Amino acid sequence: MRVGVLGGGQLARMLALAGYPLGLEFVFLCPVPDACAAPLGEHLCANFDDEAALQRLAGSVDRVTYEFESVPAGTVAYLNDKLPVYPPPPALATARDRLHEKSLFNELGIDTAPFMAVDSLDDLQQAVAKMGLPAILKTRTLGYDGKGQQWLRDPAELMVAWEGINGTAAILEGVVPFEREVSIIAVRNLAGEMAFYPLTENRHAAGILQRSISLPDDPMQGLAEDYAQRLLEHLAYVGVLAVEFFQLDGQLLVNEMAPRVHNSGHWTIEGAVSSQFENHLRAILGLPLGSTALTGHSGMVNLIGELPDIDAVLSIPGAHLHLYGKGPQPGRKLGHITVCADNGDSLQHRLAVMPGIQS
Ligand code: AMP
Repeated sequence: MRVGVLGGGQLARMLALAGYPLGLEFVFLCPVPDACAAPLGEHLCANFDDEAALQRLAGSVDRVTYEFESVPAGTVAYLNDKLPVYPPPPALATARDRLHEKSLFNELGIDTAPFMAVDSLDDLQQAVAKMGLPAILKTRTLGYDGKGQQWLRDPAELMVAWEGINGTAAILEGVVPFEREVSIIAVRNLAGEMAFYPLTENRHAAGILQRSISLPDDPMQGLAEDYAQRLLEHLAYVGVLAVEFFQLDGQLLVNEMAPRVHNSGHWTIEGAVSSQFENHLRAILGLPLGSTALTGHSGMVNLIGELPDIDAVLSIPGAHLHLYGKGPQPGRKLGHITVCADNGDSLQHRLAVMPGIQS
């Protein structure tokens, strides 16, 4: 079987690494000449709306998946006419628009922070009058890793914030004084079988994920699974779905969902029996799902901007290094380290001595 992937970044690369033992081959459509997934398959170096490249992709793979939400809708529609695209295009369309996804969460009885649609400066003023400050102005589409977001603390900042997002369609969202951020990686296959990984606690800085820790037997697991299951079923979903939450006063408020493998699930490569990457492929190929059980305690640290001392990292017992083959650049995800241990204390100790990583 040949799998087409829209995008050639680290998620595509890790999908391919998980797919090789299953006998799969990969074709990546990505306009970046040195795409980091390229060494692992055939690389169609073209824009996502390049019809000749799309035709070639459709003619050379059995199904298509994607590694990012902002795939142009026309690309997905073109391919979906010719062969199966998973996760299903309607799920992608919902997830790429914050207003649609948050409205869906509420329709399904899933709690979120309060939000209102903002299409003009006037709307923004009215939304602030109704919801109060502080609040966050978020573009409806194309926002990720904290991009496309403006925090508002003072009414005098409205005009600057509106200009800061170039007057594009947005939502205003209340700030949640959360106790922690958690996410669940869920998966549903073509036959409707579902599985859920143990919750992950995530720490962000400037909107970018810094580290994730898997949470064995967390009291919020049941509620997170219930919410994820509602989404999987409603969307007739196929593949991995990541759902991110704010936890506050024993409640989970959904922040967003990602219809793809997710950074907060990278620990599953070594920390779970079957990784999120393998399970995504199993799901879209109509295979039975692999076990999502933990292999022990594990945590993941992102390597952002520059690399730490690799010898020192690899001297830590239970440390597994994943480099994406990218050059250093501020804010760029260059790789990650998964640290595994038999118990929580040992894991915390190993993470604390990780060189060059803020604790
Ligand atoms: P997002 O781009 O929506 O994933 O947001 C990136 C990060 O910004 C989140 O993981 C939070 O750390 C923070 N953030 C986003 N929305 C809110 C909110 N409503 N209240 C508090 N923090 C937020």
